[in-house]
Amino acid sequence: ATLVVLAERLPDERRVAMVPREIARLSAKVRVMVETGAGAEAGFSDDDYRAAGAMVGGRDQLLAAADIVVAVRAPEQLAGLRAGATLVSLGAHDRELAAILLAQEINHLGLERLPRITRAQSMDVLSSQATVAGYAAVIAGAQALDTLMPMLTTAAGSIKPARMIALGAGVAGLQAIATARRLGAVAHGFDVRAAAREQVESLGAKFVFPDTSGPSSGVPGSGQPPSGLTVAEAAGGYASDQTVDQQAVLRRALTPALADMQLVVTSAQIPGRPAPILIDDETLAAMTPGAVIVDLAAETGGNTTRTRADSVVTVGRIRILGSTHLPSLMATDASRLFSNNLRALLEHLLDEDGRLRLSRDDAITDALLGAPPIVKAA
Ligand code: NAD
Repeated sequence: ATLVVLAERLPDERRVAMVPREIARLSAKVRVMVETGAGAEAGFSDDDYRAAGAMVGGRDQLLAAADIVVAVRAPEQLAGLRAGATLVSLGAHDRELAAILLAQEINHLGLERLPRITRAQSMDVLSSQATVAGYAAVIAGAQALDTLMPMLTTAAGSIKPARMIALGAGVAGLQAIATARRLGAVAHGFDVRAAAREQVESLGAKFVFPDTSGPSSGVPGSGQPPSGLTVAEAAGGYASDQTVDQQAVLRRALTPALADMQLVVTSAQIPGRPAPILIDDETLAAMTPGAVIVDLAAETGGNTTRTRADSVVTVGRIRILGSTHLPSLMATDASRLFSNNLRALLEHLLDEDGRLRLSRDDAITDALLGAPPIVKAA
């Protein structure tokens, strides 16, 4: 098969789906072609790709030859790509894209749909990119703060360590906690999945139990998470959705804990749903002036009432960073990890002769394809 690596077109997207190292590993099985300049922003030159055994060329020429096309973000159009070809990229929830691909008879393996099973862990770009995003969130947050992160004792006096909390302690939140700890902050974490407590604590951070004394609360002062706030873990380790009432109770219960944090990293998401609001105007008004919120859920609406995707919003003296491009800031390593995931996926999908095998009998392929029927090349 011929595998084509596209250059990213979206503004601020600096990653590349495949780095030269992984191409060298795949080139025994497939012919690899890379679009001119694809790795430039991530630090990989066209010559690096050639040295790894890839042919480098313009998009039109490459698409005409492609059986498999890989990209980080789905391209807006794929004119010239033949029917029966397969696109592997993010964009599984993009309906417009799905309609275009269906009309062009192109298969789409949407990476957000990867099943969360042990066998697929090495292929999981959402986890690898969330790891980078969690790290980058703390770096961006630390830069936006007017205060220092670590405790310092100097001849000019001493500085108290910053207090940080991760709301949502999944892959990104846990990495944010670890990063904040390395910078010397006093870290905290909260998640609606009960299992997250142990993971937060194992990083040396404090798990916050929101103290509810409202009508739908748990047992105040019991030190246990109020039963109305924690939710069952849904399939694949995801949190299940909360009711609107539960969300409102949670916001009030979290306000006192948030009031004395300098850095807040939010990453609460429910797959396929708008992000839950964890911080509303009342909480923002109670927060310490100068505090910074980095909202990793900005792409799905954000975890605060004021988040705007790819903007910095200032409410009073609180700043809310809604960047959806944090992994792109660390484009080299983000690309390396993405690429590793893709290579593992492609090795799973390619047969011994290097042909792509798409079968509904394979749980990973089946999930990645979503609903549309598989189309075969003419
Ligand atoms: P995610 O990005 O979907 O969500 C981030 C976090 O937000 C989750 O921990 C979720 O519980 C939390 N959250 C949702 N609503 C919330 C609310 N109202 N308040 C506070 N927190 C809320 O999740 P993720 O980081 O991708 O992963 C979640 C879990 O799945 C983790 O335990 C992770 O280890 C596991 N996981 C397993 C696999 C696998 O088995 N292959 C792969 C990836 C992740």
